[in-house]
Amino acid sequence: MQDLNKFIIDNFGIDKKVLDFCLEKEELIKDRFAEIDRITEYNQLKVLRAMQKNNLSDVHFSATTGYGYNDLGRDTLEKIYADIFNTEDALVRPQLISGTHALTVALAGNLRPGDEILSPVGVPYDTLQGVIGIRKEKGSLAEYDITYRQVDLKDDFSFDYDGIKKAINEKTKLVTIQRSKGYEWRPSFTVEQIQELISFIKSIKSDVICMVDNCYGEFVQTIEPSDVGADLIVGSLIKNPGGGLAPIGGYIAGKTEYVENAAYRLTAPGLGKEVGATLGITTSLIQGLFMAPQVVAGSLKGAIFASKIFEDLGYNVMPNPVEKRSDIVQCIQLDSAENVIAFCQGIQKGAPVDSYVTPEPWDMPGYDCQVIMAAGAFVQGSSIELSADAPIKPPYNVFMQGGLSWHHAKIGVITGLQTMYEKGLIKI
Ligand SMILES: *Cc1c(COP(=O)(O)O)cnc(C)c1O
Repeated sequence: MQDLNKFIIDNFGIDKKVLDFCLEKEELIKDRFAEIDRITEYNQLKVLRAMQKNNLSDVHFSATTGYGYNDLGRDTLEKIYADIFNTEDALVRPQLISGTHALTVALAGNLRPGDEILSPVGVPYDTLQGVIGIRKEKGSLAEYDITYRQVDLKDDFSFDYDGIKKAINEKTKLVTIQRSKGYEWRPSFTVEQIQELISFIKSIKSDVICMVDNCYGEFVQTIEPSDVGADLIVGSLIKNPGGGLAPIGGYIAGKTEYVENAAYRLTAPGLGKEVGATLGITTSLIQGLFMAPQVVAGSLKGAIFASKIFEDLGYNVMPNPVEKRSDIVQCIQLDSAENVIAFCQGIQKGAPVDSYVTPEPWDMPGYDCQVIMAAGAFVQGSSIELSADAPIKPPYNVFMQGGLSWHHAKIGVITGLQTMYEKGLIKI
């Protein structure tokens, strides 16, 4: 057997000191890995069982074209999603082109003029702000006379129950709860916390639709928000549930009525779920779903590894290496632009695709500062693959997520650290 550490040092340009430091940290988090493996096994079997229960078969892997009537593969995939998420129905489509689009369809399909949206967890994900009309955009829900209210988290990141109670009124039709921190410095909410929030909201207004933006959260715990009272959960297939194999897509799962409302918006009133050809990608969506628990586990191990390394180097990390996790995003406060740039460039160096490219900060539309993004992915923009993004502004938070396997996430984090070390930014 060849020596692994020598291979890393010889082939990836890692200093022995950097590698030894990282390996020492890896040893210290092994008990967390055992815990992740138990969750992964549970979720793997949950996915397997749903596939067996729905008699998944060869015939489901064929392509439909045109209108896509009688697409057995698509319909079976949707039943499998509904079983995994414990919902009445699901819409899982390549025509949902991203997480933002899936959320937009869920919102627009279920809201009517005069209705109000409430976010009880602070400001939603950046792209959603344009959709709702918090940031002025053409075609936003605000232009259709759909209003919005927000209750911020308290200083300790807990829910402001008094504020939420006051904000719910006769117009409140839908509550949107973002599980993941997204690109905010706040903890991600566990499914148990979401359960508490939903039951509080329903105790005030029982017929309000509770929708959870589940992006980055799928398969991190053994239960999902739809197991604990969420009426709708929404996510992207180029994140967790696509397992890295889905080339495109989004899902909306929940109560039949709300899923149907979304389907009528995605296709057309009266057509709904009956149409939408899959053009041959169903196999990738199903196989990706099968792989997803394992891929999420790799991402989580990479996130905990990075969290441990940077916490021990003296940086603020969210979450810390011992906290319970509810999503795959790791935030590291790197304190300087040089650190952020070097770390992202190092992550890029460890990628299977475009490893020779050096990312630089740029003026991305819609941001008030420069942004740097490291991504060497098989699927464009896929953030279940190892990636890191950071706005170049104090406190210099970098958000790292993904990794199709633990071993790739590990070398990615090590090359990130190595790049900082080479530039003299950290002492080991
Ligand atoms: C990624 C993400 C979205 C949007 O998904 P896109 O596929 O990038 O459009 C929405 N909410 C959260 C919390 C996300 O992480």
